[in-house]
Amino acid sequence: MRFDILTIFPEIFDSYLNESIIKRARKERIIDIYIHDIRKFSEDKHKKVDDKPFGGGPGMLMTPQPIYDALFQVRKFNRGPVVFLSPDGKIITQRLAEKFAKRLLKDARKDKPGKPQTGLILLCGRYEGIDQRIRDNFVDEELSIGKYVLTGGELPAMVVLDVISRLIPGVLGHDESAEEESYSKALKRKKEYPQYTRPANFMGHEVPDVLTSGHHEQIKEWKMKKIK
Ligand code: SAM
Repeated sequence: MRFDILTIFPEIFDSYLNESIIKRARKERIIDIYIHDIRKFSEDKHKKVDDKPFGGGPGMLMTPQPIYDALFQVRKFNRGPVVFLSPDGKIITQRLAEKFAKRLLKDARKDKPGKPQTGLILLCGRYEGIDQRIRDNFVDEELSIGKYVLTGGELPAMVVLDVISRLIPGVLGHDESAEEESYSKALKRKKEYPQYTRPANFMGHEVPDVLTSGHHEQIKEWKMKKIK
């Protein structure tokens, strides 16, 4: 599965995408992540990527040309949807991430060697956002990570990439599972039950007896009672 991220701050991704689960998944080529610097596509002699909004107003907007050219280039390799990260987009939930992952996995079956692969193209805004004509004509989906405004789309892009990646078979290792977690179908879309590990007594605080009883049925029952 391929992820292409378009940003004017490519270095932001260096640490997160090169650690832990995502690092391993990339190494094993379960997911491929490509970061593209939108500024490199600017035709402006100073590589400018922003300008004042027509009609006035505070701040700057990202101009359409570099974004369009970056998208045009990336489209040669990735035929998946273009997702613009935006505070007024659809809020990403576990359920929505599952829908995306399912759709991508289905589409990936139609991938042909040497042709553009399916995946996600994540477009990160900065400043006051991007020119509306890009949103109207070249973006397929708009996703938000919550009802608040961040300085840029890079953190949201990482959130979307992370939540979808861990639903792709093979990304999580043997010891990890996305099945029985908060908001999963298995837990009836509710919040996860409390979990404990060794020692059974920590500074006088004991773990619930049932969990050390060895009675699998009772443990299962207890867990389902504890989901909220
Ligand atoms: N003027 C925009 C508005 O009022 O909706 C906010 C622009 S914000 C300062 C700059 C960029 O950060 C946005 O274009 C978007 O890419 C990203 N961003 C900020 N908050 C976000 C959120 N909650 N979810 C997704 N992307 C967000």
